[in-house]
Amino acid sequence: MACPECDYLQQVEDPTRSGMVLCIRCGAFLRKSNRGSMDAALAWYLAALILFALANAFPLLSLHLHGTVQEASIPGCATLLADLGWPWLSAVLITTVILAPTVHFSGMVYVLFQIRRGRQSPWTARIFRMVGPFQAWGMAEVFVLGIIVSYVKLSSMAEVVPGPSIYALGGFILVAAAAITSLDAGTLWEALGPSPAHPAPLPGAVTALQAALVVCPTCGSLSPLRPRTRCPRCGATLHSRKPESRERTWALLLTAIILYVPANILPVMQVVSLGRVEANTILGGIIYFVESGSWLLALIIFIASVVVPILKIAILSFLLISEHYRSAWRPDQRARLYRLTDLVGRWSMVDIFVVTLMVAMVELGNLATIAPGPGAVAFALMVVATMLAATSFDPRLVWDSLEPTHG
Ligand SMILES: [Zn+2]
Ligand SMILES: [Zn+2]
Repeated sequence: MACPECDYLQQVEDPTRSGMVLCIRCGAFLRKSNRGSMDAALAWYLAALILFALANAFPLLSLHLHGTVQEASIPGCATLLADLGWPWLSAVLITTVILAPTVHFSGMVYVLFQIRRGRQSPWTARIFRMVGPFQAWGMAEVFVLGIIVSYVKLSSMAEVVPGPSIYALGGFILVAAAAITSLDAGTLWEALGPSPAHPAPLPGAVTALQAALVVCPTCGSLSPLRPRTRCPRCGATLHSRKPESRERTWALLLTAIILYVPANILPVMQVVSLGRVEANTILGGIIYFVESGSWLLALIIFIASVVVPILKIAILSFLLISEHYRSAWRPDQRARLYRLTDLVGRWSMVDIFVVTLMVAMVELGNLATIAPGPGAVAFALMVVATMLAATSFDPRLVWDSLEPTHG
């Protein structure tokens, strides 16, 4: 097979029971052993889906005020935000916390169930391809961190009691992690259909591109390189390199850099109480936790909201600039930096979830009038822009500069 991150052609042995197979050139993950059977994976995915349904059915937080109890569930928060006139906040919550996990986990249960019944078809393969990207946009674990932060903030205003949904959500995160680690996508693809035939690579060809082959970004099979071709197994569009990768990544990165300024200067939240408007910026939120003695929360918010976006913008700029000058400096280290940006980017969303929960809960308890500030819009767009920039960047470009035959 060819490595999807550096295009290096290599013979991959079946992984041993405990092991992972990494690319011998760049260290990217290629295959892992399928711990347990497909049935075990189906059980994990089904359990995750049930816990996720419970997390959405029960109250998340309840406010105890003057003898009354106000409860809010996750869908309840989304509806409340839409009613209050913040449809974009509601949309962020619905997309990342409700829709993406629902589509991913129910799609996976369907695919694994079809395999169990021996009814796999090209349609099943297409569903498996389509539900894959939803995993990256599901942010239940970041949302839980947001709940913890909001819980601390709300506790100073009213008595807050965590609802059953939080325990279901916690269970969902653990079971979802077990489900994802229990399954090797390569083994599942083999169960869905044979790898398409391709001509043997020419002697001396190091990369798939040199061998006139192209690796499928979804199922990892090799196909002959032809313009505008689709993968015979999963139906994904095949490109030897991501189209206009440099231009798209630069455009998204510049958008993120521009948005970074208003995201940090403008308030992310405005609290109106007794006719006084109090504007909270990201930095203000961190200072609040430092002053109230919650050092750990201050540190977490500082890393997620300030360090991670800067780090991500800096790494992607460095990768683009070094690739532009055809730098030969430590390509393995640069490949590792790229994987790091992909891994940490999502955690920046935590502040948006804090704003979401604060606006919904404060309104519910009638504690004050609170509204998301323009900084929150800029911040949410900046996080999305950096996530898209990381996806647009083709890590194979780092290795292409080392190939004398390709330019
Ligand atoms: Zn590689
Ligand atoms: Zn494919």
